[in-house]
Amino acid sequence: MSAFLNSATVTAATAVDPACAEPLPVLGRDVTVPLVTGGEVTYAALDYAASAPALQRVWDDVAAYAPYYGSVHRGAGYLSQLSTDLFEQSRATVAEFLDCRPGDQVVFTRSTTDSLNLLAAALPAGCQVFVFETEHHASLLPWTNAQVTYLNAPRTPAQAVATLERALADRDPYGPALVCVTGASNVTGELWPVKELAAAAHAHGARIVLDAAQLAPHHPLSVRDLGVDWVAFSGHKLYAPFGSGVLAGRADWLQEAEPYLAGGGASRKVARREDGGVDIEWHTTAARHEAGSPNVIGVYSIASACRALKEAGFENLVARENRLIARVREGLADVPAVRVLSLFGDDAPRVGVISFVVDGWNSSHFAAALSAEYGIGVRDGLFCAHPLVRTLLGSEPQEPGECGAPEAAPGERSLNAIRVSFGAGT
Ligand code: PLP
Repeated sequence: MSAFLNSATVTAATAVDPACAEPLPVLGRDVTVPLVTGGEVTYAALDYAASAPALQRVWDDVAAYAPYYGSVHRGAGYLSQLSTDLFEQSRATVAEFLDCRPGDQVVFTRSTTDSLNLLAAALPAGCQVFVFETEHHASLLPWTNAQVTYLNAPRTPAQAVATLERALADRDPYGPALVCVTGASNVTGELWPVKELAAAAHAHGARIVLDAAQLAPHHPLSVRDLGVDWVAFSGHKLYAPFGSGVLAGRADWLQEAEPYLAGGGASRKVARREDGGVDIEWHTTAARHEAGSPNVIGVYSIASACRALKEAGFENLVARENRLIARVREGLADVPAVRVLSLFGDDAPRVGVISFVVDGWNSSHFAAALSAEYGIGVRDGLFCAHPLVRTLLGSEPQEPGECGAPEAAPGERSLNAIRVSFGAGT
């Protein structure tokens, strides 16, 4: 292992190009971890696609707010009023970050998975859903209430648009339909032609939701310009701590649907009826789907991360990340045993998410050795995108646990992949 990893791989994965601007300060940058070979090393976090380290700025904002923490939409006291104001200002900050249209609603959720399940629960009756098999399971699986068409993996962005257009042309043009697509793959990092897919969806009377879990932390995104109807993302991938997410976009389907959770906060008026039942009037704002005491700190953290990224300037962040991507890919290309996984080819624009297999190596052992011998944290397995990884590997992956790495016998070769991912704090 050491002989192999003394090659360009480790250098490329961990060295910072002096031509790059400084990374944004993140928590955990100076954490040291023990090595099996003895001694300690500064941890190299290269698993941003799973959860990115929180920005120092977000942590500072949360610490400054913590003494003023109070219930939201529920208290008359000063701290409750302040917290309510900050909560609603956070909603406005996220709407601005996403460049939402007038009338769009920002609903706070727990995560991207939660956001897409919320939308799935709000689909109108008879809705058809179109989704590429290449999606993360969070985008692939929530549509259990609908008639789902799974689209085959395209090999170019143009093929993706053509595949969608063909599928939509065959649908009932009068019924509701939704397309769900990711902005950037959590396996290959490749960018999807979201604007073109949105145009195709709309040309056929369908709507589109963008899974921006991997796009939002790396690229500026404009709901208005992309023309998507909804966008979903998670705070913990956007350099905020765990526990909060966003679904933003058109109000109509959300406000016509039953509340995602029933309870206090979602209801405007509840009264007993003479027949013994209750009449309920639900809110028609984002509150309709936010029943229960909200995750104030999580929401505040997302807004803080949005502000920090905007201030840093996505132009700078993208330019810096592109240089890091090139360095890592060059380093990997120097190692004959490595095959980088790609759907759209080497020249496709991408974010800092790179998956590869190493000939002769079990991916779990490889990833474990990176951690134990070098203090480098990556991920291995199927990345909650089993059909995509299967297509990219051109073979059956080993049986995994849900999302995770398979149990491989010692010495047994695994065809599952290893993923390095990085971002604004790298
Ligand atoms: N969509 C994509 C593209 C992802 O990469 C992920 C997580 O890795 C998700 C959705 C789900 O995000 P969460 O686990 O925060 O719900």
